[in-house]
Amino acid sequence: MNVGKPLSYARDEMPVSADNLRFFAGAARLLEGKSAGEYMRGYTSMLRREPVGIVAGIAPWNYPLMMAVWKMGPALAAGNVQIVKPSEQTPLTTLRFAQLAAEILPPGVLNVITGDGEPVGAGLVRHPDVRMVSLTGDVATGKEIARTAADTLKRVHLELGGKAPVIVFDDADPAAVAEGIKIAGYWNSGQDCTAASRVVAGPKVYDKLLDELVPLVESLHVGDPAEGDEIEMGPVISKSQQERVLGFLDRAKGAKVLTGGGSNGDRGFFVKPTVITDVGQEDEIVQREVFGPVVTVQRFADDDEALAWANDVNYGLAASVWTRDIGRALNAARKLQFGTVWINDHIPLVSEMPHGGYKQSGYGKDLSAYSLEDYTQIKHVMAKID
Ligand code: NAD
Repeated sequence: MNVGKPLSYARDEMPVSADNLRFFAGAARLLEGKSAGEYMRGYTSMLRREPVGIVAGIAPWNYPLMMAVWKMGPALAAGNVQIVKPSEQTPLTTLRFAQLAAEILPPGVLNVITGDGEPVGAGLVRHPDVRMVSLTGDVATGKEIARTAADTLKRVHLELGGKAPVIVFDDADPAAVAEGIKIAGYWNSGQDCTAASRVVAGPKVYDKLLDELVPLVESLHVGDPAEGDEIEMGPVISKSQQERVLGFLDRAKGAKVLTGGGSNGDRGFFVKPTVITDVGQEDEIVQREVFGPVVTVQRFADDDEALAWANDVNYGLAASVWTRDIGRALNAARKLQFGTVWINDHIPLVSEMPHGGYKQSGYGKDLSAYSLEDYTQIKHVMAKID
């Protein structure tokens, strides 16, 4: 109801969220550190891994419950008290979760506060008793939070935007790549921080890839999610988001729209699934996160150019490389400046492995034991032994 996404997609997020909570419940029992030891004669040193204290978790609207769970799981498992602020556009599932959790958790351990970024989110960031702020959101919001948090020197954990490249080498299977982009580029109406939004394809595979991709994108069943399970793509979240996406398309002068390129009738905030070519590396539509169902495709000359283009953005959240050549794939995985690199797929994540950005996509990890560590602090206890 809040996001306007197909119900089956919302349902898909539930087992993933439950798995994530289960993972952190178990992972908290396995936190490791240095063993106690005598590093100075006559003294025994040991570590205590302790919670940070009161942690504010500020969530976005694209996967409202799942993004909140990514924050609640590690924060609570590590023994913190948490205040979650869902997006002002999507508070319902987090509030329902808190109602259910109230039957299990002691009072005050999990708190939900709703409202706008300013004053509610920013109020949490300014508050001296909040010891850590974990945000999933826009790069600009992350910078603002980091600046404000500096006043009280609270810990900041930032999962921000992305502009994921999809590097398609000439030896890749164009049909498989097109299937992958159909899902990873348009899932959730492209409102995904890892969305496969920026394809760079080799000179020989470029035409074949477009021949496969365009009809697949045109086959996407777009409509009101209330119509039923056959709907694969709903609207974008709001009128302002629709205007934002259409603004990117309007400004992409000189680009060629192979399919889509506008709204889908007057009812609802729809944007047609769009494929664009003839874009330059410096163009805004290649450099900035659109957060809508828009995929650009560029043709590279050689491997070096592919990797240079892929890295040539401020973001560094996720990337994928498609090839049958394992050496080429691993070389690309080494050179790509992104926190996640997929080989021959794009989008799956697992609770056991970290998810987080390089560069302006932020710092700190969600998912995995690394995330749990981010929500703890280490104390050195040094005892003199007579
Ligand atoms: P947003 O930055 O506008 O809002 C995110 C949250 O921050 C909301 O709860 C909002 O109320 C709050 N907020 C806004 N200004 C604030 C301030 N000054 N102080 C404190 N809180 C403030 O982002 P959005 O539009 O809700 O979500 C889309 C963005 O999230 C995209 O850029 C997307 O890439 C990113 N995202 C990243 C990941 C990831 O894992 N890296 C996952 C999902 C979404």
